[in-house]
Amino acid sequence: MNVVVGSGISGATVARLLADRGEKVLVIDQKPHIGGNCYDYYDENGICIHKYGPHIFHTDLEPVWMFVSRFTDWYPYMHKVLGMVDGQLVPIPFNLKSIHKVFPQSLADRLESKLLERFGFNRKVPILELRQANDPDLDFLADYIYKKVFLIYTMKQWGLKPEEVDPGVTARVPVYVSRDDRYFQNRWQGIPSEGYTAMIKRMLEHENIELRLSTSWKDVEDQHLNDRIFYTGSADLLMYRKLGDLPYRSIKLDFKTFKKEYFQPIAVVNYPENYDFTRICEYKYFLDDRSPNTVVSFEYSSSYEYGKNAPYYPIKSDKNLAMYDEYVKMAKSRFKDIYFLGRLGDYKYYDMDKAIDRAIQLVASL
Ligand code: UDP
Repeated sequence: MNVVVGSGISGATVARLLADRGEKVLVIDQKPHIGGNCYDYYDENGICIHKYGPHIFHTDLEPVWMFVSRFTDWYPYMHKVLGMVDGQLVPIPFNLKSIHKVFPQSLADRLESKLLERFGFNRKVPILELRQANDPDLDFLADYIYKKVFLIYTMKQWGLKPEEVDPGVTARVPVYVSRDDRYFQNRWQGIPSEGYTAMIKRMLEHENIELRLSTSWKDVEDQHLNDRIFYTGSADLLMYRKLGDLPYRSIKLDFKTFKKEYFQPIAVVNYPENYDFTRICEYKYFLDDRSPNTVVSFEYSSSYEYGKNAPYYPIKSDKNLAMYDEYVKMAKSRFKDIYFLGRLGDYKYYDMDKAIDRAIQLVASL
């Protein structure tokens, strides 16, 4: 028997693929709802709220796109982000339009031609790479973006300086030598037209899948010691935190409803300067929900503390990865047949498509 612990996007993918090939699957989730952190719901205003923060689907992986598209139609939403920089809203990642917005024209023109000359049109230049440019104008630009967009945001988000954060994280927001101000350039992007919960619900609707919500793994693990387990929670909790807590960043979302049609011009506005929140998300933009009211979340970042808040982002460092590996080793000696997956289970900062891809590959390898 297969037991999938966690009904988020990773768990639901594994469960469905196993069920499709005729295997019985029990899916358990400690929450009273499916979907993990992708869970969304329609509130009393008819606005689809992403309870655990904004999720935008984007991928270049065709098998992933084909798989999820079996369970949903897509609303053709193109994600854009603005940042409040020096009192103005500018496109993030910083691109040629942002440069023209914040600098006087002669300087902006000069920066544009130097970027084009040095990196070429359409290049995404990681901020740390730009910082190493040996040109006074580009040094100035790098310094400006570093201070205005990265430094404080990253310190707020991770509690670390950008240099201390895994380069894979800061490379997510490069300087884009382009006028394309979409956040993602992937071939496929959008929001499930009835929301993520509806999509994941369809994934789990299969005669071979049994779903048990509000069921904690700890309460049932003794019954499944000899089953094949797919575990999407965090490895430290699985092993009773015997080696201490695996570090994660957590977020707190402060939801507010306003009696006005729109609060801000776009779904996500980042606040990279010294506000205590990192970003504000306005949910009605994702599916263009119509309402005289609007709902936004102010997002605050903090370190994860067991029992107080929830783990969201793994913090990649040699020390943390070594602890994670130890936990996996311990788990493999306790459970005969266990696989880890998902952002928490693999302790990797996956986007949704990468989490699904990992689940597809895992099932294919069995
Ligand atoms: N980042 C930043 N300034 C911004 C946006 C992002 O410094 O305005 C950095 C920050 O370190 C952040 C990372 O880039 O954690 C990735 O941000 P993104 O919004 O892509 O991640 P998400 O939190 O949505 O997964």
